[in-house]
Order: sequence, then C-alpha cells, then structure tokens
Amino acid sequence: MELTFLGTSAGKPTKERNVSAMALQFEQDNKWYLFDCGEATQHQILRSRLSLGRLDTIFITHMHGDHYYGLPGLLSSKKLDTAFRPLRIYGPKGIKKFLDCTLDHSLENLGYVLTIIEFEADETYRFDRFDLKVLALEHSVESFAFSIKEDAITNKINEKKLREIGLEPSRLYGELQKGHSVTFQGKLLEPREYMLEPIPGRSVIIAGDNSRPDVLGASLEGLDLLVHEATYTQEAYDHLAVKVMHTTAKVLGETVERYHVKNLIATHINPRYNTKSDTGVELIHDEIRSLYTGRLFIANDLDVYRLGRDGTLKRVHTYKR
Ligand SMILES: [Zn+2]
Ligand SMILES: [Zn+2]
Repeated sequence: MELTFLGTSAGKPTKERNVSAMALQFEQDNKWYLFDCGEATQHQILRSRLSLGRLDTIFITHMHGDHYYGLPGLLSSKKLDTAFRPLRIYGPKGIKKFLDCTLDHSLENLGYVLTIIEFEADETYRFDRFDLKVLALEHSVESFAFSIKEDAITNKINEKKLREIGLEPSRLYGELQKGHSVTFQGKLLEPREYMLEPIPGRSVIIAGDNSRPDVLGASLEGLDLLVHEATYTQEAYDHLAVKVMHTTAKVLGETVERYHVKNLIATHINPRYNTKSDTGVELIHDEIRSLYTGRLFIANDLDVYRLGRDGTLKRVHTYKR
C-alpha cells in the first residue's frame, strides 16, 4: 500500500507544509482513501498523481479546522471534474451539520451521491479489502484514530506444486482458486492441497491529534505502521506558557518502542520546525530516534511511502512542491 502525505503541518499552513491530509491506496486498486482534508488539500492533490475521480472515501479524525476546512472546495471541484463517482465521508459528530450548512448556503448541487456517516468510538466498518475500527484519542475536542486491518490473502495457488505434477497454468488453476476440486489426468485434485499458506494482511493505525499515544494501548502491539502526530520536542513543549493537548517526540518515541511498533511516520509538525530556522525538523527526528529502534520517518509534504506485504516501509517518491 502507498501513503501520500498531502499536508504535514500542525494548526496552520507554512511555505513548507500544508495542513493535515494523507492519501492511502492499495496495490492494483482503482480507488483511494483520504484521511483528513485540511484547507487547500485539493491543491496538493493536483501536485500528485491522485485524481478526484478515483477518490472513494474521506475519513476525518476530528473537528479542528486544520483537519477538515478543505472539504467544501474539494467536494465542488469533484463535480467540475465531472467525477460523479459516489463519495462517502466518515467523521465525528458535527461533520454533517458543517457540510449541510456550507453546501446549502452555496446552493451547491454536487451531481453525485454524497453519504455522510457520523461515527463513534469503537465502531467498525467494512471496506473492500479491510476492516476499519474507530479508536478514541485524547485531545482538546473529541479526536479519533482509524485502525485498519487488511484481509489476509487466502487464495494463492501453489504453482510450484502443480507444475511438479505436470499441471501448467490453465483454467483448472482458477477452479482450484475458487475452492473447486478438479480432475487432471484422471486424478482428483483437492483445492486445500494446492493452496499456499494465507499471507497475513497489514495493520496500520492513522491517528488524529492526540496528547497520549498510549491510549491506543494494545492496538499498537506489533503494529506494522503507525502514523501519528509529533507536534513538539519535549523541551519546546515544556516551555509552552499554555499547554496544548499534543504529543511530544519523546512521548511518542517511548510509546512506539514499548509496543514494538514496526514502522512509524511522524507528522503534524509545528511550524517552528522549518528549514529557515535553527530548529529544524531533525530535532523531532532525533528525539524519537533516541528512544525508538523501529523504522522511522518524519513526513514531508508530497512524500510517498510504500508499505510492503512483508511489513517493510520505504519512502519511494516525493512530488515537486
Ligand atoms: Zn491539528
Ligand atoms: Zn486538533
């Protein structure tokens, strides 16, 4: 699966980072999913290979503007693109009122079916290739994470074993794959004898703003990938006059190490960490790194990451900004 970071800033956009949005796409799939939709997400999409015509579902983590103010513009551009594929939006309580209000006031006729689902913590939804569970986080408003558990692949044929008995790829392979027994050279072949062991699906959690990553608890254990905010370093946080409900790099690093998370992408970076200041984003990186032994990336806008079936994570591309 591929994750494209469309916005990685916390609270407000900067010249280097737009506000929160991230796209998720599975291998050989003709659609993609969007997690959060901060202002100008549609502009970021234009810089990528993603198209609104293939956008299937949007998930909103919480009702802070930097995570959903991009929705009205994106929804009306989708119509102008003559992208009439139905769209679903999952969000916390309040998302329906916001969208009804903006769309009613602009007398917007979308021309496609828009379904809005307001979720609650611990609900589970079924998608084509995965189950998605909503998990509660700790933040100044209700905030949520989405735990994605991909289906295992159970219909892989043991081609080597079939070739050994002289059966080359043919229609019979398809029949075995469907679970039907077939006759080959007078012998009955049972599907269970010619299938490979199931390949387990990948597990990913995409979290919204959250002051305590440990509230995810056991869901983190052995997780393939966590996408989580790391808004401040511990030192910067300790010097804040007014405390905010965000995670520090230190707390995040300790938590993912404790729960053996295999890969971490940290995002939602406070604007103070930028290439023009003497507090670069490497401060966040180094603080997590000093505590966490798994694979670590700090997301930048328009970075594309690929999580392999074997659980390895790589940055494969960065689109031009
Ligand atoms: Zn935020
Ligand atoms: Zn927030």
